[in-house]
Amino acid sequence: MTQRDWIEKDFYRELGVASDASADEVKKAYRKLARELHPDANPGDAKAEARFKAVSEAYGVLSDEKKRREYDETRALFAGGGGFGPGGGFPGGFGSGAGGQGFDLNDLFARAGAGTPGAGGAAPGGLGDILGGLFGNRGAGPTTSPRAQRGADVESELRIDFVDAVRGAEVQLRLAAPGRCERCGGTGARPGSTPRTCPTCSGVGLVSRSQGAFAFSEPCRDCRGTGRIIDDPCSECGGDGVSTRTRTLTVRVPAGVQNGQQVRLKGQGEPGRGGAPAGDLYVKVNVTPHRLFGRSERNPDDLTLTVPVTYPELVLGSTVTVPTLDSTVSLKIPAGTASGRTFRVRGRGVQRRGKSGDLLVTVEVAVPSRLDEPATEALQSYAEATKEYDPRADLLGGA
Ligand SMILES: [Zn+2]
Ligand SMILES: [Zn+2]
Repeated sequence: MTQRDWIEKDFYRELGVASDASADEVKKAYRKLARELHPDANPGDAKAEARFKAVSEAYGVLSDEKKRREYDETRALFAGGGGFGPGGGFPGGFGSGAGGQGFDLNDLFARAGAGTPGAGGAAPGGLGDILGGLFGNRGAGPTTSPRAQRGADVESELRIDFVDAVRGAEVQLRLAAPGRCERCGGTGARPGSTPRTCPTCSGVGLVSRSQGAFAFSEPCRDCRGTGRIIDDPCSECGGDGVSTRTRTLTVRVPAGVQNGQQVRLKGQGEPGRGGAPAGDLYVKVNVTPHRLFGRSERNPDDLTLTVPVTYPELVLGSTVTVPTLDSTVSLKIPAGTASGRTFRVRGRGVQRRGKSGDLLVTVEVAVPSRLDEPATEALQSYAEATKEYDPRADLLGGA
C-alpha cells in the first residue's frame, strides 16, 4: 500500500465512520464489520471476502494514530486536486492539465510547506514522508519495491486460567485476521510457478516520465509498482499473497503474565507489500480468576491467599496447613496474632527469570454462625473471665 492508494481509497467510508471518529468508534465499527464479513461466516462469498480485506486494510491505517495522521494529511494535501485520475496513475503528472482544477508543482510545495500543522519540514508525516512514499523508497534496500509498505499490526486476544498465567503456557490461537498466504508462501504465484520480473520497469517498480522541465518517477502501471508480474496467480489468495483464512498460531504466554497484558508476536500481523516486513500480532491475555489465589497489586509476582482461622488459633497460636499453587505449607501463627495480619511465605509465588515471588497469606477469623449449648456456656464464662479487657478503651477515652 502506498500513499497513492491512500489518495484513492476512503478508509472512513470503508468503515462507515465520520472522518473525525474517535479511536473507539473506529474500533467498534471495525469489530462489527469484521464479524459480519468474516470468511468463516460467509464461506465461498468472494464479495464478502474482498470487503473483509478492504475493511481490515482501512482499520490497519485508521487504528494506528501515526498512520492515520499521515493518511489524513496526504488526503488533505491532494483533496480536490485534479492530478490523480481515479485508479489510473498520474494522467497529467503534476501539471495543470486537469482543466485548471489541478495544481502545479510549486503549488504543491507551497501547500506542503505552509499547510496543515505537522506537514512541513522535517516534522513526522511531513513533505519528505509524503513524497518519499509517492515517488521513492524511504531508505529501503535494493530488493524493496517502491510500493513497499510494512504490514499492518493485528490485534487479537485469548483467555487462560490463573495457574497457566502464573506458570506460563503455550496456547493455540485461532486467528481470522489477514496473514501471509500459506499456499503460495506469500509470493502470490501458484505453487510451482514464480513471478517474473516486470519488463516495463525491469523490476524496479518505477518508470520515468518527463513533464516540461521536470522528470518524474512514477509507479509502473504494468506491475502496479510491485516490479513483478504474476502470470499464474495462486488460487488461494488470487495473487496478492495475503490470505484471510483462519490460521492457528501457537502463542507462548510468558510466566507471570497479568490480566490485560499484551503478548507481541513479531511478524505475525498482516504481510508487508513489496518486500517490506510483516506487521506484528498483539495478543491481549485475559486471565480467569482463581477460586483461592490472587496476585498482589504491589508486586504481581507475589500471590495472595486468605486463610480462615478460629479465634483460639489466633489467641493461643497454632500451626495451620495452607495450600500453595503446587502443594501445601505449614504456617506458624504466633500467639496473639490479630485477625487480618499477613504472613509472607518465601518462594511460593510466580517463578520467572530466575527469581521467585512469595505467597502472602492473610489470616482472617471465622465466626461460627451457630454455637451449641456447651460452647455458648464456655464462651460466656470466657467473656466473664476477660471482662477487664476493653478493646475500645482508647477509642472512647480519646473522644
Ligand atoms: Zn497465495
Ligand atoms: Zn513494472
